[in-house]
Amino acid sequence: MAQPASALVIGGGFFGCAIAVALSRHLDRVVLVEREGELLRRASYVNQARVHTGYHYPRSFQTAASSRLNQRRFTELFEEAVDRRFTKLYAIARSGSRVAPAYFRRFCEHLDLPLREASDADRELFDPRLIAEVYQCEEFAFDANVLRKRMTQELDESGVVTITGAEVLGVTQGADRMAHVRYAGAAGEDEISADWVFNTTYANLNAIRGLSIGSATLRHQLTEVCLTQVPESVAGLGITVMDGPFFSVMPFPAAGRHSLTHVRYTPHTTWIERSCEDPSPDGMIAQCRPATRFEWMRADARRYMPALAGLRHDRSLFEIKTTLQDSARDDGRPIAFRRVGADGRLISILGGKIDNIFDILDVIDQMFESEGVIG
Ligand SMILES: Cc1cc2nc3c(=O)[nH]c(=O)nc-3n(C[C@H](O)[C@H](O)[C@H](O)COP(=O)(O)OP(=O)(O)OC[C@H]3O[C@@H](n4cnc5c(N)ncnc54)[C@H](O)[C@@H]3O)c2cc1C
Repeated sequence: MAQPASALVIGGGFFGCAIAVALSRHLDRVVLVEREGELLRRASYVNQARVHTGYHYPRSFQTAASSRLNQRRFTELFEEAVDRRFTKLYAIARSGSRVAPAYFRRFCEHLDLPLREASDADRELFDPRLIAEVYQCEEFAFDANVLRKRMTQELDESGVVTITGAEVLGVTQGADRMAHVRYAGAAGEDEISADWVFNTTYANLNAIRGLSIGSATLRHQLTEVCLTQVPESVAGLGITVMDGPFFSVMPFPAAGRHSLTHVRYTPHTTWIERSCEDPSPDGMIAQCRPATRFEWMRADARRYMPALAGLRHDRSLFEIKTTLQDSARDDGRPIAFRRVGADGRLISILGGKIDNIFDILDVIDQMFESEGVIG
């Protein structure tokens, strides 16, 4: 491709799309390259679809506080993709939970997270021998299909050149300070030059030659999200049992199903990427098709909520979940924003969770201000 780009974004998940749209407000020619045939097909589709409000992070105050703020921004900006048509219950297990009900209440109070005792009917769904408290919370789900439609429209309207079905192979920086991005698409290999490169490939953040963010920073898990049909009594609910080796049942609006995930069984394999000899996320997802653990998840979940014996397994989605290794300690979801290359114009970004996009866009704005790209 002859014409150089002001910025090239690698990866058309939610982060890549939102960043490309934001960049197009400051730069005149923005290109987005996505390997799949369609945008938002990978982790931005295969997840728990939770718009985090903060409840999920009682051990990481910072992540909870930023979720509280970003949830408001996300639900306002992407209203059409937000599903509010369910009651969200957070239940605290009596045994094995890292938080007790009194702590959870104080934590929610401190962060101004709406919390009230669940209705009698909802409480009765849980086994009181195993569950200490059940709270009704304000948490919503997002529909990745609606989000894809919205991001596609925004990319079109903002004039971003979007290339799908093309894999970026490597990036080099020339003496001219331009980045030269090599990619393989339907028509063979080609190259685009760009002033700025933004790598938003999530699990593949270390996989593109010239853009590594360093060894031992990424923790990968091969995860299984079970899509299920739920019994009538839990159809209008989202359920999370806290805070340890428990489970969640969340609406998955993009498929009209509920997801079942379990802290113990959803991750099939966990590894830290230390060198190129470690398994690659691509290799893992392509080669490993583990047997489903749905029955294990259901067997455990029904102990806490007997009605979940009626869950029906529809299918499972497998995806790599990538977090910063440091966050394993408190389960927080900080963002990674790493500038590499001669003048820091090759930037790799790990979002952690969907609503973190706002923190990232703020960081990009600050960076552009200090570099004089925007006044
Ligand atoms: C099981 C699971 C549950 C989760 N639950 C939640 C949740 O409930 N709420 C929440 O907010 N977050 C959740 N997350 C995290 C969330 O899904 C991610 O933070 C988010 O989707 C990351 O978006 P992304 O755009 O960075 O990544 P992706 O959506 O994965 O996008 C990266 C894109 O890069 C493309 N790509 C990769 N390599 C190349 C290449 N060489 N060339 C071109 N393109 C390339 C991929 O095809 C992909 O489309 C969960 C994640 C998982 C896996």
